[in-house]
Amino acid sequence: MDPKDPVSPASGIHRRSSHARAANRYTLAPSERVIPHHRRSRIIDQRLAIVTGASRGIGRSIASRLAADGLHVVAVARSAEPLGTLVEEITAAGGSAEFRTCDVGEGNALGDLVEEVAETSGRLDVLVNNAGITRDGLILRMSDEDFDQVIAVNLRSIFSACRAAARPMMRGRYGRIVNIGSVSGIAGNAGQVNYATAKAGLIGMTKSVAKELGAKGVTANVVAPGFVRTDMTEALASGREDEMAKMITVRRLGEPEDISGAVSYLASEQAGYVTGQVLVVDGGLVI
Ligand code: NAP
Repeated sequence: MDPKDPVSPASGIHRRSSHARAANRYTLAPSERVIPHHRRSRIIDQRLAIVTGASRGIGRSIASRLAADGLHVVAVARSAEPLGTLVEEITAAGGSAEFRTCDVGEGNALGDLVEEVAETSGRLDVLVNNAGITRDGLILRMSDEDFDQVIAVNLRSIFSACRAAARPMMRGRYGRIVNIGSVSGIAGNAGQVNYATAKAGLIGMTKSVAKELGAKGVTANVVAPGFVRTDMTEALASGREDEMAKMITVRRLGEPEDISGAVSYLASEQAGYVTGQVLVVDGGLVI
């Protein structure tokens, strides 16, 4: 097993069989073909998606869904083990995926990763910025560190990723950027000044990116979930699910698949006329 071999299991990259690939391969219009790059070291003939925060929760569901849609998925998070399991599951289901570990809150780490993946693969079609954290507390007690850390992970990393994605997407004249926001960024939320600030900022960032890149075939949108059952919300929801469901118009908490379905659409070719939008997926929590 050679870790330097891009298709060795040790490299974290798993490919589908040529049969499965042929069945789901996208046909690119001439204007969408990716220009060969002198530093490209492997050929990816499927659309390629980077999904952050893919080790669990909503991001994991998005990665599985995009792989099922026929994209090659680069799954990103800090923990290698759950990412490895995800890649195995995708591959077993006939999909194609690899993983990279990265702390997106560390400086330009995510931007560097995006740049490197685009260079070595010769393409970048979809970027889903989903990794996120909470450090909740009322403003009177919120430390500078808790504010800065949430901004670094939930907002600044997305700036560095979008900046790195802009060039390869513009070069390929195709791109779908989907940023995961929150209804907290629209309505605000007591105890989440840091989180709501980051998620509100993400809307302005996404609309601006949409305006800058739209003429090159690149769209940028936000999916804003309401209350979704994941590790992030476990402590809040535990034992209070019925009470919380009563506040939601469709009378249930969201599941990660509710969000990945929306992302699948915005990441698809048919969503090319939708850009700069915020798609709220909250079961009617905020109407
Ligand atoms: P989760 O279950 O806590 O998962 C968070 C994911 O982000 C994990 O894969 C985690 O992986 C990754 N992550 C966290 N910090 C990271 C870092 N510094 N670098 C790289 N990866 C990091 O959260 P979730 O509920 O699925 O939330 C996903 C997104 O949806 C977030 O942006 C969140 O704000 C948003 N959202 C969630 C809800 C909800 O109700 N759940 C509602 C609105 C919006 P590692 O720990 O392995 O790094």
